[in-house]
Amino acid sequence: ERMMEIRRQNCNPMTMKVTYYKKPVYIHQGHMQWLWDVDGRRYLDLFAGVATVSVGHCHPKVTAAAEKQLRKLWHTTNIYVYSPLHEYTEKLAATLPDPLKVIYLTNSGSEANDLAMLMARLHTGNFDVITLRGSYHGGSPHTMGLTSNAAYKYPVTGLTSICLFSSQTMCPDVFAGPWGGSNCRDSPIQTIRDCSCPQGSCTANDKYIGQLNEVFATSVPSRIAAFFAEPIMGVGGAVQYPKNFLKDTYKLVRERGGVCIADEVQTGFGRTGSHFWGFQGHDVIPDMVTMAKGIANGFPMGAVVTTPEVAASFAKGVHFNTFGGNPVACAIASSVLDTMEEDGTQQISHNVGTYLLTELAKMRDKYEIIGDVRGKGLQIGVEMVKDKASRKPLPPAAMSEIFEDTKDMGVLIGKGGVYGQVREWRSIWTVYGQVMERRSIWTGTLKFPVCP
Ligand code: PMP
Repeated sequence: ERMMEIRRQNCNPMTMKVTYYKKPVYIHQGHMQWLWDVDGRRYLDLFAGVATVSVGHCHPKVTAAAEKQLRKLWHTTNIYVYSPLHEYTEKLAATLPDPLKVIYLTNSGSEANDLAMLMARLHTGNFDVITLRGSYHGGSPHTMGLTSNAAYKYPVTGLTSICLFSSQTMCPDVFAGPWGGSNCRDSPIQTIRDCSCPQGSCTANDKYIGQLNEVFATSVPSRIAAFFAEPIMGVGGAVQYPKNFLKDTYKLVRERGGVCIADEVQTGFGRTGSHFWGFQGHDVIPDMVTMAKGIANGFPMGAVVTTPEVAASFAKGVHFNTFGGNPVACAIASSVLDTMEEDGTQQISHNVGTYLLTELAKMRDKYEIIGDVRGKGLQIGVEMVKDKASRKPLPPAAMSEIFEDTKDMGVLIGKGGVYGQVREWRSIWTVYGQVMERRSIWTGTLKFPVCP
């Protein structure tokens, strides 16, 4: 144990905290929805490697595709032409509506969002980028600028210059609008994270669109390069927007010359159940879609998909990425798409998610410390509160206890929300029993429902 602790301190530099403070989970092996630690204890992985393992740990079919490609060719770059790249990009493009057909492959979500921001600025000739309060779009210096969640920001100025109108923390100081610097705390879209009404039942849209118009009128006239938003906010705490919010915002942003970017790093690849892409649930077609995580079931990969028009602006320069489009990554990602179709992953996400939301809603009605249950498919958040009346976040110590307890029950879950108070279930292939009462078990062959 002492060795493990030393290793943990040296090898997991504490910039990202290990979730379980009493005793970290020392992961050894995975198979489908299961993980095993070094002591042979088995866990049901309801966090799916932070919303990443989309078809199951070491899914046999995907593993076989990786092995096959590893024996043939590990690496080449896109200065050459090679079939795993073409086969994959054609398959991926087929999942997206016109005119989203031009694909750039990267190695992570941050890289994809970095690239999308660059392309948006080149295409529009504008600079300011709008993101939402509570957002997380990456940990690179530029995407940290898009990320509003204070927990993930370093106090370094000039990271990027954006109009982070919904930030709860400092804004990069290059943009000196009324929401710049510490004034961000008073930004107009303060309450967007509180709006978690199921889509269709919310009337708050006018309020938020009014606030957005106010931002346009007072701070960023005609200078917008892009608007970034996830279809359902992930790290921010499974936040859903009022009906039409994205549709109306896209219209306003486009009227001011900006492009609209859907960050599908978490919501893509069928996770929301009803659609393959989250944006399809909002009746919009973005100008760019960024993706990563579930794209290759945990193998490092990301992508930006855009229109020929945006791509043409980008083609004026030279862009090179050594590993982007790596043949092994492409073979894996290709097999993930096939596997999703064969296993019916999106349908599973819908079925399991609906079941889970229904059961969790019952728990919400029963327990005072569950303030809200929200999400769609297997993008689900359970907001833990002190009490229902105040809806103040459950204090961190109590949250930690819940994490330790669920882990001891053999279930791994995630933590999100601006105050870290939202428990998250993101596994795309997992059946949920009732975590609290130890009935959560398994699935095996990806059939639903199987809940002993
Ligand atoms: N966008 C979203 C919505 C994310 O959740 C994340 C990662 N949590 C990222 C971007 C960044 O992806 P990566 O960690 O692969 O750089």
